[in-house]
Amino acid sequence: MTSNQETFKKIISHAKEYGFIFQSSEIYDGLSAVYDYGPNGVELKNNIKSYWWTSMVQMNENIVGFDASVLMHPKIWKASGHVDAFNDPLIDNKDSKSRYRADVLIEDYVRKIELKINKEIIKSKKRFGDSFDEKQFRKTNSRVLDYERKIKEINTEMKKCFDDDDLVSLKKLIDDLGIVDPVSGSKNWTEIKQFNLMFSTSIGASIDSSSEIFLRPETAQGIFVNFLNVQKSSRKKIPFGIAQIGKAFRNEIVARQFVFRMREFEQMEMQFFVKPGTQSQWYNQWKDTRMKWHQALGLGEENYRFHDHDKLAHYADAACDIEFNFPFGFKELEGIHSRTDFDLSQHEKYSGKKIKYFDPEINESYTPYVVETSIGLDRMFLAILSSSYTEERIDEQNSRLVLKIPDFLAPYKLAILPLVKKDGLPDYANRIFNDLKIHYNISYDEKDAIGRRYRRQDAIGTPLCITVDHDSLKDDKVTVRFRDSMQQIRIDISQLKKEIDDRLSLSNWLD
Ligand code: ATP
Repeated sequence: MTSNQETFKKIISHAKEYGFIFQSSEIYDGLSAVYDYGPNGVELKNNIKSYWWTSMVQMNENIVGFDASVLMHPKIWKASGHVDAFNDPLIDNKDSKSRYRADVLIEDYVRKIELKINKEIIKSKKRFGDSFDEKQFRKTNSRVLDYERKIKEINTEMKKCFDDDDLVSLKKLIDDLGIVDPVSGSKNWTEIKQFNLMFSTSIGASIDSSSEIFLRPETAQGIFVNFLNVQKSSRKKIPFGIAQIGKAFRNEIVARQFVFRMREFEQMEMQFFVKPGTQSQWYNQWKDTRMKWHQALGLGEENYRFHDHDKLAHYADAACDIEFNFPFGFKELEGIHSRTDFDLSQHEKYSGKKIKYFDPEINESYTPYVVETSIGLDRMFLAILSSSYTEERIDEQNSRLVLKIPDFLAPYKLAILPLVKKDGLPDYANRIFNDLKIHYNISYDEKDAIGRRYRRQDAIGTPLCITVDHDSLKDDKVTVRFRDSMQQIRIDISQLKKEIDDRLSLSNWLD
């Protein structure tokens, strides 16, 4: 097992032990790729939602919020193309009986070549030191050029297979590349089949009158079919956006990697409606804005990168992912898609209702184009959890485990800890707790030695611990201990709220 895999395992068990994430239906041996959020998990999740909603909706006067239902008219999924084309190409290995997505097998193969390029770069960096010019090296090194040529060839061939809907050639590509099953090392593959990812259920009381409907596989369509309702009621002029946070359901073929790939998950999506012809400018603008939003979290700029799509979905004229460096490598965190007028036109066609925008500036009606930003809340959660998980040596004997979650996202903003459980300290500590609880989510803990309580708060990412001791009763001062530096300062309780606000509030962060 690599050290990254080991760390990932530790993160998963940490998430369970400290009440962040549990396997769904655990006492019945679990339901695969479905997870429940515990008391600390739900707080972190709500704070991430709030960060997204505040910066996307509250801070943009041309974006409004929305909340569509999960169940919708089945024709919506016909119109959107999901009934016919929301498929993943699945392939089985006959020896290991494991099932894979054919495109993911090929993408993983490409990633291995990318790793080889990185190795060459690291090797040469070491050799040449400060005089190393990476750009020049990539342009001239024959081994790197060969690798890059190979990647290009594979991607072009894969794109062609998808464009032509040619599963036979896709299988041939897997055979030609000699791709082996990552579990068994076998090359004994079945043919590739398409598999629709939508969950279906039925609506209506009796079998005769019921009809098949689908659990939505994305939140976007709820926004498209309500485009005119929202535009007219909010009197928005193009360009404007509609944002939504909600559950989506996909019967994923390969559901591994914890909350990275779930069958029930949450999306935070924003559909931005623009004048035809301006979509490319808006697409680039949203790419830029969304990347900045991620980088503002301070999880390390080197942990993000764009991946522009060669293989475009049926509705898009441009698309990219923002990828994050998860413990299992760079993978998609957010998708940014220029969806053209495909969805609105399709709904106009299938519903028979006119879905046009009258533009008063040019005195014309048209079908708006759409640029979408779509981020998985659970993937965002995993990005934060995995990058903030830190094992730290304090001195020769002691180490600690600390979640360095961005302060304003932490489940508890502070913990209030009376040094001992007697001499009036709990009463004093409780008074502080009661004064502040309306402003922040606070943890109160009076059990065990103070050192152990600090460790417990470190393990759930609480940025500030406030300790009440015997002197506090005399001078109205408390000790504030900072999670990351472990530094302690003495502060007057009248200054406490300001100190906390300065460091932890979302509005200060966004400012
Ligand atoms: P992937 O290629 O990883 O399957 P996708 O391209 O199908 O993802 P989109 O349809 O663009 O994903 O969905 C937008 C976002 O929703 C993704 O960027 C991701 O963060 C999230 N998402 C998609 N599928 C899942 C899933 N099964 N579990 C958790 N999050 C998901």
